[in-house]
Parts: sequence; C-alpha cells; structure tokens
Amino acid sequence: MISQADLIESAPDGAATAADSRSHLLGDQTAERYRRSLTEGVTRLAERFATTGRPFTGISPEALTPEVAAIDLDRPLGDTTAALDELEDVYLRDAVYFHHPRYLAHLNCPVVIPAVLGEAVLSAVNSSLDTWDQSAGGTLIERRLIDWTAERIGLGPHADGVFTSGGTQSNLHALLLAREEAGAEPGRLRILASACGHFSVRKSAKLLGLGEDSVIEVECDADRRMRPDALARELRRCAERDLVPMAVVATAGTTDFGSIDPLPRIADLCARYGAWFHVDAAYGCGLLVSRTRRHLLDGVERADSVTVDFHKSFFQPVSSSAVLVRDRATLRHATYHADYLNPARMAKRRIPNQVDKSLQTTRRFDALKLWLTLRVMGADAIGDLFDEVVGRAADAWRLLAADPRYEVVTRPQLSTLVFRYLPSGDHDDATVDRANLHARDALFASGEAIVAGTVVDGRHHLKFTLLNPHTTLHDIATVLDLIAGHAEAHLAEQSATTRHHGELTGSLAR
Ligand SMILES: *Cc1c(COP(=O)(O)O)cnc(C)c1O
Repeated sequence: MISQADLIESAPDGAATAADSRSHLLGDQTAERYRRSLTEGVTRLAERFATTGRPFTGISPEALTPEVAAIDLDRPLGDTTAALDELEDVYLRDAVYFHHPRYLAHLNCPVVIPAVLGEAVLSAVNSSLDTWDQSAGGTLIERRLIDWTAERIGLGPHADGVFTSGGTQSNLHALLLAREEAGAEPGRLRILASACGHFSVRKSAKLLGLGEDSVIEVECDADRRMRPDALARELRRCAERDLVPMAVVATAGTTDFGSIDPLPRIADLCARYGAWFHVDAAYGCGLLVSRTRRHLLDGVERADSVTVDFHKSFFQPVSSSAVLVRDRATLRHATYHADYLNPARMAKRRIPNQVDKSLQTTRRFDALKLWLTLRVMGADAIGDLFDEVVGRAADAWRLLAADPRYEVVTRPQLSTLVFRYLPSGDHDDATVDRANLHARDALFASGEAIVAGTVVDGRHHLKFTLLNPHTTLHDIATVLDLIAGHAEAHLAEQSATTRHHGELTGSLAR
C-alpha cells in the first residue's frame, strides 16, 4: 500500500514536467498562451492564403512519405514555432488548397471566414452535443438550425433532425429509420435509387443488414435524372414479387452531374406505393438559400427525410451535415438510454439530449459554424455564392459545347461539368481514354490546376466541380488549354513510339 508520505516524497522528481504539461492545458492560467499560440498559427496561414500561387505543388506520395516518416513522434519539439515550421514541410507547403480558383475537382469547398471562426470557438470550448449537460446553449443552437433548415425545406410542423458527420452518415441514418418504419423482414426490403445516386446508399444497405440485391438501380434519362416511368415499373415489379419498397432515394444534385431527380413525380409514386421518400440533397442543399434557383428543389418538401451537406454548398468547413425528418417520432428508432448519460427519466423531464436522436455519442458542435455564418453574413449571402458558381457552370458549358476539342455530357443544373477530350483524327476509344487519364494525372502533377475524373458509359471522362466564385471563365478556358496540351503531348509521344516501333520491325523484316 502506498502511504501519503510516499506520494509527497515522490512528487519533486516529476514536478517540473507536470507543471510544464499543465501549461499546455487551456484554462484560466493559460489564456495568454492560448492567444499567442493560435495567433501564431493564424498569422502563418494568412500568409499562406495570401501567397499560394497554385492549388497544389504536385508532390508525389513517394516524395512526401519519407518526410512524414522521418519525424520522431516520441521526441517533441516543445515549442509552437518549431512545430509549425515542421508542419510547413509535412503539410502546409504541399497541401491541396481549395480557395485557389483553379481547384476544380471534388465537392470540397472554399470556406467562409465566420465558419472558420466558429471552428476555432467550438474546439476551444469543446462542447459535446450528445447531452444538455455537456453543451447547454450548444444544443439549443443546433436545434434552432435544424428547425431553420426544416422550415427552408418545408417539412411541416412535426419535423426534426440532427447534425451528422456528413452525407454518408445522414443517408445511413435516414435509411435506418426507413427500414424500421417498413417493419418487414430484411430479405423482402428493397431500396430504389438511381444509377447516378451516391454509393453510400449501397454501403448503408450493407450496414443495415440488407442483402446484396436490396438496392434496385432505377434508370436515368439522358440528363442523368431518375426516370419516373422506370421507377413506376420497378415499384410495380416489387409489388408483383411481394417485395417491400422500403425507401426511394432521390438525389437533388448527383455527385457527378449535379442532376436533380424529378422530385414531385417521385413523391407521387412514393405516396402511391407507401415507400419512404428520402431526398439526398448533400450537394443541392445550397439551393435552399438561393434567391433565384430555389424552385429547382420543388417537391423536396414532400420528403420523409432529407440529407444536407453544409460542407458542400454552404461553404462550411468539414464536417457539417444534417439529416432532417418530416415526423420527429421516427427518430425514436435511434433512441437508446444509458444510465450514465441520458436515462429515460431525463427525457420525461424534457431535458434535450441530442444523443437520443443521433447515431453518434460524443459529437462535435458543427452547428456553431453555420450559426456564425448566418449571423454574420446571412442566408442570402451564402445563396448568392452558390448561385454564382451555378451560373459560372452554365457559362462554362457554353464554352465547352463550342470547343471542338471537347465533348460534354450534359448541360448542368448545378455546378459540375463532365466532359472528354476528343483528339482530331482517327483514334480508338481506348486511346482517347488513355489521353484523358494522362491529361488529368499530368495536370495534377504540375499543380497548376486540379480536375476530377469519372467514367460515363464505360469511357473515361474529366470533371469540373465548381464551388469557388473566384473561378473565372478565363480560369476555365486556361485549364481547358492545359488539358488539351497534356493530352496532345501524350498522343504525339504515343504515335512517335509506335512509328519508331514500326520502323524497327520494318527494318528487321528486311
Ligand atoms: C458527397 C455526397 C454524399 C456523401 O457525403 P459525405 O459528406 O462525403 O459523406 C452523399 N450523396 C451525395 C449526392 C453526395 O454528393
């Protein structure tokens, strides 16, 4: 047994280090260190943002891996400046910068400053939104924002929801509720989603214990929107085979094409067949605050559940997402009570514990970022930013459609463009595929611009996702020239190699 004397005796040895450790804990004694430390980091980043000339340096994983591996994590630098200097080499210098106007690849956005401030505040206070007793006002702020979003959607007086880590989790959450509401044995349950829907629907089906063929792919039209006649056919087939259409997932803004499924007609079919109507508006949710394009979401108000990703079209830092439901009673399917955390008696006393509705327990106060955004800028300002990129995509479509070097798949409803470089002369599809793949890789390695890629009807395509209002039509034209340059250089090299090869075999034959 250790005596009190032993404890006091052994203290002096480690005393200095213990005090030193404590000096890093944010608290009443360290407010000044907190201020200095964050200011130093912010000052450095501000400089980066002001001077970054390219979205990326083009560094390869092979070049960066040894730099990260060489750092001895068991030997701390003990100093903020030194750690930030080191971070320049392993991260900041070569990071991908989304504020750069020639970042045109994925659905990750440049962020608004009030939200970044919110991020700093929420992590310092470190509220956890599972229970009232770990968040207080944080819970009320989240609830207000859920109500605000539900109202923008038009879900009616019984709506509710909860913030989540992202669209993937929101879709899983919505489909869990749909499965529980369907109440049939898993083997008979079917989810109907378009071929252009997000892969998280399939992943969710697997996590929910539904079979391999539980997700029925509904055909799309040429504009990559779900065909209501195809949906009606699949629903009829389900009925004939005694299968239960547990949910129809409509997408308001497909990840590749930004296409919006015909929500009112899908809502009609869901009502007729008694299927849960989920709208995945992870991308298209920005239209909720648009002053000119809100009508594109008409019909979303009839959904049973809606996924929104504020970290895509609301210019919020990762992560910030929510799942909304028409009928708050359905959220009970995720309710579990733990004696230590949220006993049932608390619910009876109406203590708002958000964990009662969430799939997560400890949970970030992401809502604060949106709150400060709305309080500083307002919803219209966010909608205007999104409108601007949607307008830019329409202009870029005209540019692409008029450019003989390119073929563009669909006219965008939102802010993505899927297209393909088409060389002049006779080339087979595989050669064109390789030229497009090469152009994307070469552009990425140059760091001058970043574009995405996808496959359409078996052929490799390139993709722009426009989320930065600073991206001009001139930027887009420049990137198209860069892509064509890389593709042409690749084709020229290929044909030179083939010619060379031909000469060799020709001379051997002689
Ligand atoms: C991005 C996206 C998702 C997934 O959202 P995460 O936030 O990345 O998890 C789901 N559906 C659609 C349509 C998306 O574009």
